Amino acid sequence: MPSFDQERENLKSQLTSFFNDPKGQHYISDFASGKIKEIILDLDEVASFDTDISNNLIKNALSYGMAALENAITFCLNSGSGVSIGNSQISITGTFSQSLIHKIGADDIGHIVKIHGLVNKTAPIHPMYIQAVFKCMLCQEESQSIVQENPWILTKPFPKCDHCNERTQWEPIPQLSILKDSQEFTIQESYDDIPSSKIPRPIRCITFKNHLLNFVNCGDDVEAICMVNTMSASQKFTKTKFNIIYLEVLAVNKRRKDPEAMVFTPEEELVFKELVKDPDFYMKMMNSLAPSLYGHENEKEAVLLAIFGSPEEVREDIVIRGNIHILMVGDPATAKSQLLRAAVELSPRGMYAMGRGATAAGLTAALHKDNETGEWEISAGVLVLADGGVAAIDEIEKMREEDRVLIHEAMEQQTVSIDKAGYHVQLKARTAVIAAANPSLGRYDQYKSVFENLPKFPPSLFSRFDLIFKVLDIPNEQADREVVDHIIDSAERKSPIDRKLLKKFIAYSKRIKPKLSNEGAESLKNYFIAVRKGYTSDQKTFPFSYRQFEALRRLTLARARSLLKTEADTSDVECVKRLFDVFLKDTVGGDVTQLETGESTSQMDILKIMMQAFKEHDMTKKDLKNMIHCDDNEKFEKSWAKLLGENYVIMKGMALNNQEVYGIP
Ligand SMILES: [Zn+2]
Repeated sequence: MPSFDQERENLKSQLTSFFNDPKGQHYISDFASGKIKEIILDLDEVASFDTDISNNLIKNALSYGMAALENAITFCLNSGSGVSIGNSQISITGTFSQSLIHKIGADDIGHIVKIHGLVNKTAPIHPMYIQAVFKCMLCQEESQSIVQENPWILTKPFPKCDHCNERTQWEPIPQLSILKDSQEFTIQESYDDIPSSKIPRPIRCITFKNHLLNFVNCGDDVEAICMVNTMSASQKFTKTKFNIIYLEVLAVNKRRKDPEAMVFTPEEELVFKELVKDPDFYMKMMNSLAPSLYGHENEKEAVLLAIFGSPEEVREDIVIRGNIHILMVGDPATAKSQLLRAAVELSPRGMYAMGRGATAAGLTAALHKDNETGEWEISAGVLVLADGGVAAIDEIEKMREEDRVLIHEAMEQQTVSIDKAGYHVQLKARTAVIAAANPSLGRYDQYKSVFENLPKFPPSLFSRFDLIFKVLDIPNEQADREVVDHIIDSAERKSPIDRKLLKKFIAYSKRIKPKLSNEGAESLKNYFIAVRKGYTSDQKTFPFSYRQFEALRRLTLARARSLLKTEADTSDVECVKRLFDVFLKDTVGGDVTQLETGESTSQMDILKIMMQAFKEHDMTKKDLKNMIHCDDNEKFEKSWAKLLGENYVIMKGMALNNQEVYGIP
């Protein structure tokens, strides 16, 4: 069997013949003339010359392939121009088949692979030892130069010094060593590439290539060509038998995230256009969202509209976000989680996260010191990673302190900015948030507002959501019967629209940028004014703010987009008005002020006072009304109906004056 040295020489001469061929000549001449600063060898060109050469290079990149390539290029340059080239100026690209990050293993070590994923962590550039010369700290003599195989752990000479014969400490001498600029980052596979039950695997990457230094940012969607390498996993100075795979990155291609970049065949486009002709299509989409989930039509519709989203709008010098944020508050183990999972499954670039976050980055991003290197690193959280898509966040009320600060900007301006330790970093987070929260007391207290059920949630954050729903699990015989029936048939209950097709349709719809029709705009305006007027009648509850108008507009445009309409008309407005009415009456309890101030007023207060009164006495309705001094008859009647309707108070008998007496059951 030939040695690596022989193999390298063979490959070098094969590559030399490629660089001397008309197919490969341009690399050498362009570099020699200064037209290009790096040689990025396209392996497709090498393959078209001789596939054996390209395959040999791919399979043996680490052991001798990259060395042979460097030797061949140096040889060709020397024999011609005398211009020299460094290893950091030589990279590889090409269209070979892609490997999945979670499948990279022992068989890939030493090969060149192409992977796809999201950059979720970046470190600054730092020079790294490639070959190091050391100094004995006792006799000051220099050691021999030691090749540094492991990029992270400095390989030192034997502890015993040859010169002074003592056990010594070795210190590297930078001036006598070879250092190269490097940058570390982490690529995490995207949710599209993994089974839904799996957690995306992040993989450690390092690059020494000049053109890749400071090239990638957190949140970038990249295709990277890398050499698979491995190092022993060390645990506090002892090496273990386990190895950690890392990638030495040779080339990176940033993928466009905007929906226009996705390609659809004319046949697919035709199918989409046929789909929307079905008058029941909208309903079918809603039923396809989570086919096994019974009821919750409003929440399903809101989530669907958030998945579609609306186009971003640029007005003078401000950009109005097009992404729609939805919050669902309710008892644990309700439909919320099912809806979140469905949203991730159907959204292009959909991602799932828990509020407290599984990584140091949390929901937004973090700047923190790496344990090993002590360098500052930026890690991206789900709102950055899902840039251009949907982040489904469960238990959002448990988010970290840092996120509470950063999430406002992320949701409204759709960026995450970090100012810390002299760094200023701004990352893109053009993400729609579909979030679920559990009430602080475990169960949702119906006699408290949504806001009171989440006392620790930042009040100002409520106003960043376009729609908020409470998702309750109320015992009710009729509903229970229906749910049970539903579960029984859900075995054969299928999604009315094939979910893969629906996912494609949603991706396709993003290129539609609907505008409001004149009638649509008029209708929306009238609704907004009417609701606002309703609120001004009560002194306490004035600001139904323009934030809500933006929300209405976004939802209306999303409705139009979901049907591939370029104009949002009154039918879209009607649909959104219905959802908004539910939001206002049911969730907010007719009090939008709370969105802005977090203060509770009116309806909820009356209800609470009434309940308190009944804890103390049984009484007639008239007594109650006198006792609580309620002069708003409408609010009193509404609250009264609620107490009776939900059996909070029952009729206990008759008083002397022939009036019904009520009390707590
Ligand atoms: Zn010594």
